[in-house]
Amino acid sequence: MKLRVPGYYKHFTCIADKCIDNCCFGGWQIDIDEETIDYYDTVQGDFGDRLKKYVDKEAGCFKLNNGQCPFLLNNNLCEIYKELGPEHMGLVCTQFPRFTEYYGNIKETGIGMACEEAARIILNDSTPFILEETDIDEEEIWGEYDSSLGQSLFILRDKIMAMLDDTSLLLTDKLCVILDMFDHLQNMINSNDYDEIRKFCSDIDLIEDIKASLLKQDTNTSIITSNGNSKPDNKVIKDINMKIWWAYLDLEPLNNKWQELSSNAYGYLYENNDEVSCPSYDNNLLELYFTRLTKYYVYRYMLKASFDHNLTGKAQLIVSNLVIIKDLFIFKKERDSNQDDKKILMDIIHIFSREIEYSEDNISDLYDSFIFDDVFSCKTLTNAARRI
Ligand code: SF4
Repeated sequence: MKLRVPGYYKHFTCIADKCIDNCCFGGWQIDIDEETIDYYDTVQGDFGDRLKKYVDKEAGCFKLNNGQCPFLLNNNLCEIYKELGPEHMGLVCTQFPRFTEYYGNIKETGIGMACEEAARIILNDSTPFILEETDIDEEEIWGEYDSSLGQSLFILRDKIMAMLDDTSLLLTDKLCVILDMFDHLQNMINSNDYDEIRKFCSDIDLIEDIKASLLKQDTNTSIITSNGNSKPDNKVIKDINMKIWWAYLDLEPLNNKWQELSSNAYGYLYENNDEVSCPSYDNNLLELYFTRLTKYYVYRYMLKASFDHNLTGKAQLIVSNLVIIKDLFIFKKERDSNQDDKKILMDIIHIFSREIEYSEDNISDLYDSFIFDDVFSCKTLTNAARRI
């Protein structure tokens, strides 16, 4: 089995008591694996009693105290770690914020933006995206993995990463290409045209094709770029973005920070009769951070299409997430123009990630909206992508 991790992965270590928004009070359920529950059951004495009191064996998780893990000490360190040692922490506790996916004989792992330290590392990583590969001694896991599709998508993902790393192109153009291309491939997936998929993914030269398309300003090319179409006016964009918001506001709120931030931002941007002024900010920084965020989304989500065969959904998720994050940024910057752009983005991105990426229900509700709400059609989202 091969293990692949992004180049920045090795730089992550939990900053524990120095962490401002500790994952032990994320408001989410903290699961405990069976083996760890069984061990906790054997612990004797006062601490054993505390474990029995605060472990929900039926649900397989800790009983939270005001949304907080009951074993988080006042100094933000873990009582279980202190009393029993790191070897008796549950899997979720030791693995967070890492995520893993198995593609047959390939295991891919990364770090997630819900952790502020992981977000800091990913967003500050100025190197081109690379995957480091090592051999590991683990059983292959094939499950529902569609290896024919997966192999083609791995080839395409490398090309997308190279496109995202090419600074001669704008992110808006790259996002339009991703939307258009994933939708195009989705038709082939729906008709099980695996030979065409393989040929498309192997033959396409993304960077050259976009440049050629930009030069020709050719709207009929199979790769749509923002340059080939006139930008829609503000009212149209506002209407599209507002409808994208509805899907996110309908999700189950997992923590107060998200609830407060999202409802205030939506109220300010869309329920206010006055024209919202655009604050001044560092455009280059946003382009940089949003590009790195896009790389993170592509790495984390694109290949999941080799399980659920929903490639269009991955492009919809990337663009819609960026629309919401951009709106949140505008709102926060407008409220406090002296705040550092970098800091605002860091805060928003990890709060957003906690709400969206760490709830299977919320992700699945979004995918449903992408299918049933017209605003998520790739054509409409292309308009939204042009204004990110
Ligand atoms: S959020 Fe990240 S840095 Fe903070 S305690 Fe959790 S794993 Fe550590």
